[in-house]
Amino acid sequence: MALLKAGKILNRQVIESGQLCPCGSGNTYGECCQQIHRFHAKATTAEALMRARYSAFVTQQIDFLYDTFHPSTRRFQNKQAIGQWARENKWMQLSILKSTFHIVEFEAHYLDPQLEVQIHHEKSTFKKQGDLWYYVDGR
Ligand SMILES: [Zn+2]
Repeated sequence: MALLKAGKILNRQVIESGQLCPCGSGNTYGECCQQIHRFHAKATTAEALMRARYSAFVTQQIDFLYDTFHPSTRRFQNKQAIGQWARENKWMQLSILKSTFHIVEFEAHYLDPQLEVQIHHEKSTFKKQGDLWYYVDGR
């Protein structure tokens, strides 16, 4: 837990292909979200993209997080702010509560910079454009 000692230390987790995927699917990262991080087109469902976005927070793939915003909401996003949110928290666990064709309700458990346990509960809306799923927004 040395990583947690100082909130300023980057919380980036290096996940090897053979390790369990941070999204909690039970598959290895190489068989799961890493595929989507490399080839966005492999997210064939809204839930798959949601899981990959969570894993991207864990592994700090900010470009992926930015690029998977739907064009209609991407322009309101700030890469630096996304990066800060990803880095300053320690992402612990993802629970998918409900998943439909284009809406995924989930809880992301994390430690904030004060090392307090927090739960981010969100109902995310996704939209498919062409072959690709995008994150529109959440509430
Ligand atoms: Zn995964």
